[in-house]
Amino acid sequence: MLRTHTCGELRSAQIGLEVTLCGWVDSYRDHGGGLFVDLRDRYGKTQVVFSPESGAAVQEASRGLRCEDVIKVRGTINARPEGTVNPKLITGEIELRCVELEILNKCKTPPFLPTQQDLPGEDLRLKHRYLDLRRPVMQETLLLRSRIIKMMRDYFEEHQFIDVETPILGRSTPEGARDYLVPSRVHHGQFYALPQSPQLYKQILMMAGYDRYVQVARCFRDEDLRADRQPEFTQLDVEMAFVDKDDVIGIIDGLVQKTAKELKGIDVQLPLPQMTFDEAMERYGHDAPDLRFGMELIDATDLAAESDFRVFKSVAEAGNRVRGINAKGAADKYSRRLIDELTEFVSNDFGAKGLAWFKVEADGKLASPIAKNFSEELLAKFKERYDAEPGDFILIVADKFSVTCKALYALRKRLGAELKLYDPSEMHFSWIVEFPMFDHDEEEDRWVAMHHPFTAPRAQDLEHLESDPGKCRAIAYDLVINGSEAGGGTIRIHDNKIQQKVFGLLGMSEEDAKERFGFLLDALQYGAPPHGGIALGIDRWVMLFGGLDNIRDCIAFPKTQRAADLMTDAPGEVDRKQLEELAIKVLRQDELKK
Ligand code: ASP
Repeated sequence: MLRTHTCGELRSAQIGLEVTLCGWVDSYRDHGGGLFVDLRDRYGKTQVVFSPESGAAVQEASRGLRCEDVIKVRGTINARPEGTVNPKLITGEIELRCVELEILNKCKTPPFLPTQQDLPGEDLRLKHRYLDLRRPVMQETLLLRSRIIKMMRDYFEEHQFIDVETPILGRSTPEGARDYLVPSRVHHGQFYALPQSPQLYKQILMMAGYDRYVQVARCFRDEDLRADRQPEFTQLDVEMAFVDKDDVIGIIDGLVQKTAKELKGIDVQLPLPQMTFDEAMERYGHDAPDLRFGMELIDATDLAAESDFRVFKSVAEAGNRVRGINAKGAADKYSRRLIDELTEFVSNDFGAKGLAWFKVEADGKLASPIAKNFSEELLAKFKERYDAEPGDFILIVADKFSVTCKALYALRKRLGAELKLYDPSEMHFSWIVEFPMFDHDEEEDRWVAMHHPFTAPRAQDLEHLESDPGKCRAIAYDLVINGSEAGGGTIRIHDNKIQQKVFGLLGMSEEDAKERFGFLLDALQYGAPPHGGIALGIDRWVMLFGGLDNIRDCIAFPKTQRAADLMTDAPGEVDRKQLEELAIKVLRQDELKK
C-alpha cells in the first residue's frame, strides 16, 4: 500500500509514530503560520499540518492544495495542542505534522463538492457519480448494502442453500412487465430476453434435485418507473423443494430476525404476524399496509344506505362501498382550505368522486356540510361506528370498492405522516397471504396472473379454478416492511395438468404454451417435487434498513426515472455496422406512427 494507515485509524496511542496517509483534501485552512488540511478517505478524516517545520518546499507546495486533490503525506503523529482537540472527529486528538507531500492527482474545480451542505440536483449527482459517491452518507449506504448481502449469504449457507447462477441471456419469464430484449447476431430476427427474474430456472433447479437454491440475482423489467423502482434491480432469489408456505415463510422470518437484530438492535418476535389479502384490503385498502399505526378503514355502507344523502344512498344501492377513517383528535388541524386540498388529492390522483367529512365538536355533535341529510339517530350510529370523540376528524369516500381502497389508503398514509402517528425509526414486519390467483383486466376483459402464472392455487380452490377464477386464492405471500413490499413469493404448481389449465385461463392456447414454456411442461412430467420460493428486493431492504427514501441512493450506479445512466450516457446509439450484423433497421419516428 502507498499508505501505512487509513485516515480513520490514528489515535493518541500512535503519538510519535511516523506514518504515511493517502486521501482527498476535504478542507483546508490557511492560518498564516501554517496550513491545516483535513485529509479524507472512506474510513474517516485526519488533520494534516503544514508549517515551517515541514520545510520550505513542502510548505510552498501545500499552498497550492485545493479541495478534492488526491495527496500522499508523510509525517509524525502529534497530540493536538491544548484547546484544539476536536471531539467530533474520531481522530480528533491527534494531527499529522507533514514533512513530505506528493500530489497524486490534482482535482479540477469540481461541479460540486462532496462536502457541501446543500445537495446539488440529482441529475448532476448522477452525472458525476464519482464525486457523489465520495459523500460519507453514500459510502455508509453502500457499506450497509454490502453488509446486508453478506448477512443474507451467510444465513442461507448456514441453512444448506446452494448459490447457483442462472443465465442473463435467456427466454422471457413473465413477471407482468415488459422484457428487455437483446437481438441475436447468430440468429437474425431472434431475441434473448433479459430475465425479469430467474423464476423458471430456479424451478427447474428444484426438478433437478438442488432442493435449496439461493442467488443474489439481477432482474430487468422495462416498465414505467415509479419513484421506488429501477429498470434493473437486485433480488435475493430463493427456492425450496418439498416445502409448504410456512417453510418458506419460516426461513425468511429467521432472516428478518437476524437482520433486525444485527443492523438495528431490534428484537423481533417470531413468527411474524400474517394477514390475508382480503383482510388487508378491508382494513387498510392495500396489500402492503403500513402497520406502524392504526387509523383503519371502517365500513359504513349499511348506514349510508339509510341516509337521505343522495351520493351515499346511490353508491350503497349500486352495491359499492362507503368507507372512511377517523383521524383522532385532528379536527382542528384541518382547515377548510386543507380539506379542499385533501379532496383534490383523492379525486385527481385516485379517481374518487369526492370526499365527505365530519368533525366532532366539543359537545359531541357531528359537524359537516352534509350533516343535514342525516337524522340524529343515524348520526349517532355513525359516531358509534367510527368511535368518534370530540376533536376527531372523519373522512369518508363513497365509490367502487377499488376506488375506496386506493383513495383511503393514500389518505391514511398521508395523514399518518402529517399527524406523526408513528416513529419513522420504528420498523414493522408482517406477511400478507392468500392473494387472489388472478386479477381481472377490465380494459381487455381477461384474466391476468396476480403474481406469475406458475403460482399454485389453494387446494380448496382447485374446484372453482375454471368456474370462478376471481374467487381462487393463491398460496402466495408478501413480506411487508413499514408499508413497503419487501419480498414476495408463492408455492408453485408442480402438476403439468394444473399448469396447462392456468395457462389456458390466462388466454394462452395450448400451442402458445408449448412454444413458450414447453420445457417447463416437459420437466413437470419427469419427476417434479412440490416446491416454492420467494424473492426479496435487496435495493428496497437497503432503503428500509438504512431509513432512506430514495431507491437510487441505495444503488451505486442507478438509472434515472427515464431509464438512463447519466454518467456513461446509456442508452446510446450504435454503429451502423453493428446494426447490420444484427439485421436490424431502426425506424424513424414518423415511420413508427403509421
Ligand atoms: N419470481 C418472483 C418475483 O420476482 C418471486 C418468486 O415468486 O419467487 O417477484
